[in-house]
Amino acid sequence: MPPPPQEKWKTRSLDADWSEQRDLARGRGALSNASGRFEKQYAEPFDDGWGEDGDEDFKPQTLQTEAIVERPKTIITYNTSPDISFDRTINPYKGCEHGCIYCFARPNHAYRGLSPGLDFETKIFVKPSAAALLERELAKRTYKPGRIMLAGDTDIYQPLEKELKITRSILEVLARYDHPVALITKSALVTRDLDILAPMAAKGLVSVAVSFTTLDRRLARTMEPRCAAPHRRVETMRELAQAGIPVTAMTAPMIPALNEPEMEALLEAAAEAGATRAGYVLLRLPLEIAGLFTEWLEANYPDRAKRVMSLLRQMHNGNDYRSEWKVRQRGDGPYARLIEARFRNATKRLGLNSVNVSLRTDLFRPPVPKPDPKAASGQMSLFGEE
Ligand code: SF4
Repeated sequence: MPPPPQEKWKTRSLDADWSEQRDLARGRGALSNASGRFEKQYAEPFDDGWGEDGDEDFKPQTLQTEAIVERPKTIITYNTSPDISFDRTINPYKGCEHGCIYCFARPNHAYRGLSPGLDFETKIFVKPSAAALLERELAKRTYKPGRIMLAGDTDIYQPLEKELKITRSILEVLARYDHPVALITKSALVTRDLDILAPMAAKGLVSVAVSFTTLDRRLARTMEPRCAAPHRRVETMRELAQAGIPVTAMTAPMIPALNEPEMEALLEAAAEAGATRAGYVLLRLPLEIAGLFTEWLEANYPDRAKRVMSLLRQMHNGNDYRSEWKVRQRGDGPYARLIEARFRNATKRLGLNSVNVSLRTDLFRPPVPKPDPKAASGQMSLFGEE
């Protein structure tokens, strides 16, 4: 029987019936692929006896990653959220193969009729026209330069980027016109683009944040299965800093009683590697993420699951999550204040956040708009579009 509508994105805990699903999800973050909150149909795996005799044809296959080309009309997205420090983003990818179980971009896949679970990690929308669109938007007379966050949604250096090079093509455009950009990633692949980033940094045009959550390899492997290993993230920060790029360590998300006890050790490792700034965000569990996360937590850390959720709810007035500005990022109450005080003390002791990094906008030179071939030939558009 399907679950009631308000419950349908809350995935169920793993049990023996779900062992096939677990095989399918090997090497991924989410353990299930429940329908998104907008779907009228609800599907769940059911073993009707095929494969009981060990027939290889009926053994579940490991999920493959699928790249789906998307052709948007514009590429810069603007936001007015008062608790976000940037007003524009570029997201060359939607969905993320890194598969972090806590990823707050997961629920966006439901808008596409897909699951925020395994679909989010395996059906990736890619925008190969991003650089051309960006050049066109920068050339508009009304465009005002401002720091672009690349990306505010999903990782710009996820595995597909190695081959597709969409992020690299965006950086080439921004470098060409001296436009400021801030990057955030959990991948060591960012160092591939040092040849673009280092000259931009010398002009005060770029900063990079490395999201750095744990030094525990086992935790990293289950929680963020396809991101760079912890030691690779430290080395990435070091390489970036040595190339003169301002580096921020984002210890986010902090999950109480899971990676939160590591906060000071993470900040120390980041400072030693050359990061000059740091930040953190508390675990956020809106919509489908709550079910996916608790399912993962109970399967991987059953000894701590109750404590993690109890502390998190203490910081959110008894709820898994609150969406109000400010409080959604850090919670409130005694435990939230304790985490905040520890962060403040550690950053002060380590000399982190003692200088501001503001990127320059005054060097920007807009691209020269390309002539419209229709106008040049004197031909009028049949449909009157611009
Ligand atoms: S790397 Fe970032 S975008 Fe990708 S799954 Fe992890 S949290 Fe989400």
